[in-house]
Amino acid sequence: MCGIVGYTGSSQAAPILMDGLAKLEYRGYDSAGVAVTKPEGGNIVVKTKGRLSVLSDMIDGGCALQGTCGIGHTRWATHGEPSTVNAHPHHNDDYSIVAVHNGIIENFAELKVKLTDKGYSFYSQTDTEIATKTIDYYYRKWGDPIKAMVSFILRVRGSYAIAVMFADLPEQIFIARKDSPLVVGINGGETYLASDVPAILKYCRDIYYMDNMEIARLEKGKATFFNVDSKIIEKKTKRIEWDVESAEKGGYEHFMMKEIHEQPSVIENTLSCLLKDNSIDLSEGKVTDEFLQSVERIQIAACGSAYHVGVAAKYVIEDLARVPVNVDVASEFRYRNPVFGKHDLLIVISQSGETADTLAALRGAKENGVKTLAIVNVLGSAIAREADMVLYTKAGPEISVATTKAYSAQLIVCYAIAVRLAKVRGTIDDKRYTKLIKSLQSIPAQVKKMLADDTSIKWLATKIAGKSDVFFIGRGIDYATCLEGSLKLKEISYIHSEAYASGELKHGTISLIENEVPVISVITQPRLAEKSKSNVVEVKSRGAYVMSVTLSGNYDIGNSVDFCIYIPKTEPCFTASVSVIPLQLLSYYVSVTKGLDVDMPRNLAKCVSVE
Ligand code: GLU
Repeated sequence: MCGIVGYTGSSQAAPILMDGLAKLEYRGYDSAGVAVTKPEGGNIVVKTKGRLSVLSDMIDGGCALQGTCGIGHTRWATHGEPSTVNAHPHHNDDYSIVAVHNGIIENFAELKVKLTDKGYSFYSQTDTEIATKTIDYYYRKWGDPIKAMVSFILRVRGSYAIAVMFADLPEQIFIARKDSPLVVGINGGETYLASDVPAILKYCRDIYYMDNMEIARLEKGKATFFNVDSKIIEKKTKRIEWDVESAEKGGYEHFMMKEIHEQPSVIENTLSCLLKDNSIDLSEGKVTDEFLQSVERIQIAACGSAYHVGVAAKYVIEDLARVPVNVDVASEFRYRNPVFGKHDLLIVISQSGETADTLAALRGAKENGVKTLAIVNVLGSAIAREADMVLYTKAGPEISVATTKAYSAQLIVCYAIAVRLAKVRGTIDDKRYTKLIKSLQSIPAQVKKMLADDTSIKWLATKIAGKSDVFFIGRGIDYATCLEGSLKLKEISYIHSEAYASGELKHGTISLIENEVPVISVITQPRLAEKSKSNVVEVKSRGAYVMSVTLSGNYDIGNSVDFCIYIPKTEPCFTASVSVIPLQLLSYYVSVTKGLDVDMPRNLAKCVSVE
């Protein structure tokens, strides 16, 4: 995880690095640091435990450091506690080599033994110090930075995006990556690098995406790319169309609130790329009708909220298209030796397109000859590049660690797949097909309606903020929504919460229900409403304080709970897109009420590019 930035040009580097790191802080925020080449030669490293603001105060936002070439890092610790000594950049003994790294060097212990035998000693507990000293070793051996980087790539196992400065090669930065993202941008005489586009979008729009096992030498206004044979390779840039504001807060107090409010337009944009002449057309992602016809079973692998999208998708696909669907968390899927069929399709879902476990699940399926379809937000990301077919969510940059708009966009893509699958397999007729598309098109307006007035949710948040446990219950698609609502609440409010399939309640969780315990019940499936209502009555009679999210018109449910939020009537298959909105808002306001850091909750990071 963690964020990397770099700059070489004619301006002062440190303020640019700090500005870039601020955009990447969502990736990690337990410590931060920068290294700049001093005008008189040699590198200076400043780093500290804590948020970026602590570093910023130490170096006056970067103004205190002189030098036009530098690298920076905001960390999410994997090896070694968050501390100043473990913070990046790391360095060799005389600081003539400094490096920042994102990822995990899996064979660090073995390399440490080898380096110790060669006389190296270590000051930190990180794998990154070992990576830096491995490069130092090879640079001393070969006297050539590209050869040193190649040897590093060939010697280490694991994942990395690494940026290195050598004091005797001033104004240059050497970079390499494997399974952790890295992008490069050039504007005139200035060259930028970062883990993610928002960090450098202000300066450049034409972006080079580094591929696995590639190396680059960055100089002022120039980038030269090499493969592992040290041969120069040509790379093309990709133009980024987002506006800079989409990576800024735009008047909102937190990114999360801004992103919640972007959902109507994100859903609309995502959908419009999947529709042609009022019919679903997935050809942009290379998903053909012939292929959909051949699919006999779908496996979905994803992590976190994307997994919850998968759970919702299972209900929708099975209901509409009658194709069996298995959903698994990617970290389980990749290691459980799944049984693949000849006509299986693996769908992987990831906002960043770099999620390590999801990427591994994708590779495992491909090795078994299974066709793969990725639902991804970040253009050119590893998952997008490696999947056979890709459907992009048009969510733009999502900065808040707790996902909202990417989740909503992923749902829409899954609906489009389900409806098209149903159409080509003949499980729905033309009339139903047209009606379903109309329903999809009405989702943005319905979401907008849910966002228009959140006063009552704010009130409920103050009631929940003091509680230690919250339970979410629902059946079918509503259960998927409950999983997401519960995750949202616990990740940003630190309140323990659990999502339970309503019918399972009496097999466990109901023993935890006592006076005033909040229970949030989602009831949007007409077919299951009676059953869900009975579950509400069960918890109410044990003293629970029940809030329900249900369809407008369901007054009997409204009357049987303590607090009710009505959502507009929606096609039952698609209610998850609307019913999740009040749950997102509730989590947001509970976090704000508790005075927590909404966008950067403790211990988490946005892009989980490590196992
Ligand atoms: N493994 C490195 C460390 O613990 C980098 C971690 C990361 O990529 O977040 O410092």
